[in-house]
Amino acid sequence: MRDFREKIVHHGGFDGVTGSCHEWFYADNASIMVDCGLFQGDEAHEQDLNFHFDVSRIRAVVLTHGHIDHVGRLPWLIAAGFRGPIICTQPTAKLLPIILEDALQLQLPDQDVLVKRALERIIKQILGVAYNKPIQSGYSVSNDFQPPQIVLQNAGHILGSAYVEIAYRGKTTVFSGDLGPSDALMNPKPVSPLRADRLILESTYGDRQHQGRADRLAAFKQIILRSLEDGGPILIPAFSLGRTQELLASIEAIKIEAGLTQDYKEPWEGQRLPVILDSPLASRLTFAYRQLRPWWKDQIQHQNPFSFDSLATVQSHGEHLSIINHLKSTGRAAIVLSASGMCQGGRILNYLEAFLPRDNTDVVFAGYQAKGTLGRQLVDNVASSDRGYADTKRVDIRGNMVDVNARIYRLSGFSAHADQSELLEFVQGIPVAPSEIRLVHGSADARKQLGLKLKDYNVIG
Ligand SMILES: [Zn+2]
Repeated sequence: MRDFREKIVHHGGFDGVTGSCHEWFYADNASIMVDCGLFQGDEAHEQDLNFHFDVSRIRAVVLTHGHIDHVGRLPWLIAAGFRGPIICTQPTAKLLPIILEDALQLQLPDQDVLVKRALERIIKQILGVAYNKPIQSGYSVSNDFQPPQIVLQNAGHILGSAYVEIAYRGKTTVFSGDLGPSDALMNPKPVSPLRADRLILESTYGDRQHQGRADRLAAFKQIILRSLEDGGPILIPAFSLGRTQELLASIEAIKIEAGLTQDYKEPWEGQRLPVILDSPLASRLTFAYRQLRPWWKDQIQHQNPFSFDSLATVQSHGEHLSIINHLKSTGRAAIVLSASGMCQGGRILNYLEAFLPRDNTDVVFAGYQAKGTLGRQLVDNVASSDRGYADTKRVDIRGNMVDVNARIYRLSGFSAHADQSELLEFVQGIPVAPSEIRLVHGSADARKQLGLKLKDYNVIG
């Protein structure tokens, strides 16, 4: 066998923030693919879902977590002939079919049989493994060497998220996937690897610092107390996997602190501040989260943020419309979480259309808002307003001009991503400094700013 220098080919997520897909080669015809994600937002326009190479060289796929921009191209990889194992953590193995089913139904509307078949095949190939338990990819390219050894470590981003260590011939390559912040309610702070000769590092918030947990909970609590005083809903455009569950856990903590525990004993109609989850996908994922309690962070093991007795989940379109009518006619306080997270579509649009004109409505954005989305339009002048919330006057919702008298807030700290100092801490915590760091999964500016902070390292990208 000729001396082969390991190489990495990026099929996405290298110079953008979506479509993560990296192929690590350990021989000419043998590789391990880390993530297999869909492009989203503006980056989706140039998307080519097909793989233009012989996929039999991929010996295994390893998934860092279940977000669609890390797993959404899997059905296409399998359609192209990939038959190897799809390695991920046990929680991801449970969440993955739910995420993929939803994505496939959107891409292949009214083709239930095709969707069902694609899912069955994927489920057969999924191999859920424990954290911190080395597994061999099962293939060796030479009798001289052991096959690569793969270890998944907790990345603290969403439930089941992992960074990937691949050890081969005495060197370790680490793919960070998405790393979580240090102070999330649901997930632990990620712990740096013991060794990373080469580190492929995400840089989503490489140029930013988040609001601390105490600050964002205090800000959120103020919004809730005001809503209890003057009524009106608090609308939260929600991302279904990860952010929704983190928000529900935060809301529970605030309700307990604000003395609203009596609410949990009432059916939602009788509660002072009902929490309504109006997204079938987010509800299914939240239900799965509830069953994955062994993987929750220790500190919230005694809590019950997803108890469906106190949480109203809305399924059918009819139920959705009647909830809007109920909130409209009663003018009562309520917290509504509904998709989509950037208000590009989905049920949240009906809420915004109904409640943006009312001045006792609060809209809370807790996640990244991409350029060109309604969410971005609504939050854009929060920062420039000295009132602390936005002054946007009118927005276009599906062709209707809607007056905006609601208060619009942005609470950045609920992000499931590490900020600049947390990313630096992750790198600096590696006992044997990496001899190469590649920055991926970030805008040009985020990568540049993070790169400047990492000037003592050999940074590429
Ligand atoms: Zn993610």
